[in-house]
Amino acid sequence: MKQSKVFIPTMKEVPAGAEALSHRLLLKAGLIKQSTSGIYSYLPLAARVLNNIEAIVREEMERIDAVEILMPALQQAELWEESGRWNAYGPELMRLKDRNGREFALGPTHEEVVTSIVRDELKSYKQLPMTLFQIQSKFRDEKRPRFGLLRGREFIMKDAYSFHADEASLDESYQDMYNAYGRIFKRVGINARPVVADSGAIGGSHTHEFMALSEIGEDTIVYSEQSDYAANIEKAEVVYQPNEKHSELQSLTKIETPNIHTAQELATFLEKPLDEITKSMVFKVDGEFIMVLVRGHHELNDIKLKAYFETDNIELATEDEVVNLLGAKPGSLGPVFDKDIKVYADNYIQDLNNIVVGANEDGYHLLNANIGRDFDVEAFGDFRFILEGEPLADGSGVARFAEGIEVGQVFKLGTKYSESMNATFLDNQGKAQPLLMGCYGIGVSRTLSAIVEQNNDENGIIWPKSVTPFDLHLITINPKKDDQRELADQLYAQLKESFDVLYDDRKERAGVKFNDADLIGLPIRVVVGKNASEGIVEVKRRDTGDSEDVHVDDLGNYVNELYTKL
Ligand code: ATP
Ligand code: MG
Repeated sequence: MKQSKVFIPTMKEVPAGAEALSHRLLLKAGLIKQSTSGIYSYLPLAARVLNNIEAIVREEMERIDAVEILMPALQQAELWEESGRWNAYGPELMRLKDRNGREFALGPTHEEVVTSIVRDELKSYKQLPMTLFQIQSKFRDEKRPRFGLLRGREFIMKDAYSFHADEASLDESYQDMYNAYGRIFKRVGINARPVVADSGAIGGSHTHEFMALSEIGEDTIVYSEQSDYAANIEKAEVVYQPNEKHSELQSLTKIETPNIHTAQELATFLEKPLDEITKSMVFKVDGEFIMVLVRGHHELNDIKLKAYFETDNIELATEDEVVNLLGAKPGSLGPVFDKDIKVYADNYIQDLNNIVVGANEDGYHLLNANIGRDFDVEAFGDFRFILEGEPLADGSGVARFAEGIEVGQVFKLGTKYSESMNATFLDNQGKAQPLLMGCYGIGVSRTLSAIVEQNNDENGIIWPKSVTPFDLHLITINPKKDDQRELADQLYAQLKESFDVLYDDRKERAGVKFNDADLIGLPIRVVVGKNASEGIVEVKRRDTGDSEDVHVDDLGNYVNELYTKL
């Protein structure tokens, strides 16, 4: 296409607030335009890249016998009430009413709709397994839309759902999908790593996230240098290796700790190491208050609490609730009390005795609190985040951390939706059973951003050839000169026989054209300039910056060979 006809509004300065590199580059190279917070238009170059990513996704889905459908984005509330998610999903669900006051949601995901479709049709084990997928815009009213396409409120997802008669069949499709995801991310030019993830409190037993490694990633990946262990930090298990620092029991002593609010402040005040201080937090679990203790240098992980108590309904108690319950504000709380509140403690609390805890009186703490003597612990468990350097659960060595962007997730749902929505089939004994399900998502628009996040240099994007919006950038340095324009026109006609060519025919200064070309980042650039009269053009690779003068007679072959090598 002629660049003069393509809408590519490149920018010199990107708006302040575009924190992620991919966000800045996509704006700067004229690929996206923000409509409002978390909502974007995909301009011509982005639309082409999306098409390329989607084509790869479709190929890989077909390869594992997943079939494409397209479900409605507008979903009636009744379906979500059946699954129990109309209430459970919370404020992320975009809700609206029709003219008659009937409630709807704009789909953030499609388990309900797909289950409602198949429950009337997939009635026999003979029709199973079956995997359906779609590529569609999703809507989530994210609390903090940010990083451009990485966390939008409207975004494009490939979502797939599989249906099975037994676990073995679900396992097989899960593995197929896992392998397909590996191929997809590799093909689109992303270095992604599958990690074990938390499957949430209800339903589902097994899940992996695919993480594109990136400094701005919102997720922390815990991995091993010695094995292929990799887990989301939310899930990464902490191994308890006792290292008891027990000394002679001292008597419980109340001390004044004025204006001390954090564990660090308390440690400094008492001149004790942070790891000898404890933090006491009150949570409401399914409406019941409990206290959880972790050591000062550890951080409580509420995802592990949810998994331990098998509920999603866990919240940190509010200041008012805590004051009502214990008579003191957070910062002065502790487990020594005469109340019917169960105390849970992280495993590593067991290493301590003569513990420092809040006195449940503002501005006071207790020294030398001891388990069994001054307070009881209902249960010890793994309630905290692992620290870098701690031993890994697979015994392979110590935890290393990396940041990542979740580009996809595969999930065994089990019968969560089929049971609540009554989707059953007849097994080979003629008995009605709930369908087993898996669900599998890829953030297509997030993937577009992740590709840019990983493929760039200081001058702009460097598209992998698998998804590039055009293969070649043909540029005339000065189209006002007849010899240049004529040669370029002729090469354009020739090259577009075998390649997608973006032909910069604009009457702009050479500097502007080169800057734009670097920003846009097509894999190969062919420049027609002052040697046009001799039939010589320059061919340059975007990734290495290597360039060579080539005679037009050899150009076809040269570019073909170079392109195959990329
Ligand atoms: P996150 O933890 O990042 O909010 P999620 O786990 O809620 O994502 P899923 O329900 O697993 O997301 O959705 C499947 C895929 O859709 C994700 O792996 C991600 O790539 C993409 N995705 C989810 N939320 C967004 C968003 N707000 N903007 C862009 N892509 C998203
Ligand atoms: Mg996810």
